[in-house]
Amino acid sequence: MFWIIVIAIIILIILWKMGVFRKPDECKNCGKTIKGTEQTVFLEGNFCLCKECAAKIHPQILKYAKENWSYADYTDYLAWEEATKEERSRFNPDVTYGLDNKLSIDTERGLFSFSVGTEVGMVLRFADLTDYELNFKPEEVKEGLLGDKVKGNEFITVDLSAPRVYLEEVINYGVKLRLRKKGFLSTKYEYELPDEFLEAIRAFTICVYIEAQRREGTYNQESQNIGEIEKALALFMYDSMDEVTESSLKQQRNTLIKAFHPDNNESNEAYSQKINAAYELLSGMIKK
Ligand SMILES: [Zn+2]
Repeated sequence: MFWIIVIAIIILIILWKMGVFRKPDECKNCGKTIKGTEQTVFLEGNFCLCKECAAKIHPQILKYAKENWSYADYTDYLAWEEATKEERSRFNPDVTYGLDNKLSIDTERGLFSFSVGTEVGMVLRFADLTDYELNFKPEEVKEGLLGDKVKGNEFITVDLSAPRVYLEEVINYGVKLRLRKKGFLSTKYEYELPDEFLEAIRAFTICVYIEAQRREGTYNQESQNIGEIEKALALFMYDSMDEVTESSLKQQRNTLIKAFHPDNNESNEAYSQKINAAYELLSGMIKK
């Protein structure tokens, strides 16, 4: 008898948690009466939507939306979705990175997307990006006889104004990198990112800069070929566009020019021209 009561109470608690006893709510968007189990609750805005209205939100951002969106954020999202639908449907990435999870960038149209596993990522616009980070997060550092190793994940975080979301995803799990010790006694270390990942970071950061120039009306499509900018960054050994500053640019140019000066090797004159052209290109990007 005792156990029957206990089990009955547990079942009642589960049903209560599922929302079976909750009084039917109205969908904030369409007004339809919805049963407790069929509603999607938005905690921050303290409202709920029916299944159909909640399904209009892309699965990739639903979790964030449920925890952070007000009803105005939802209606803004629907308006943005409609207004950018055609632009985003033209997404045709030319840069792709990752295995299971993928980061894809359409440098020409200023669009990007990151997919997680088999789930199709949302196509997002650089124009809506307010902050981002693409990097490697070390999780474990092993020091061995044959050299030190670091293991971690490559990840991307994006903060967008439309749709209003903050997303963080791992692009590659368990990436192993060789690490170099900096200094003799210090335990500081540095690691080299894989070339393919660096290419993706460069392309992404260039798109961010070009978008800023588009906004300011200083973008020149003819002189600013993304492929050329990428080559210039690689030549100056920058990992991303964010590292480019006036002073580091000058310093790096002098180092490269000295190393490849025609006096040292006549065949390097073409190389000096290349360095100067790359300098002009990058310098033009950071000038306001
Ligand atoms: Zn509804």
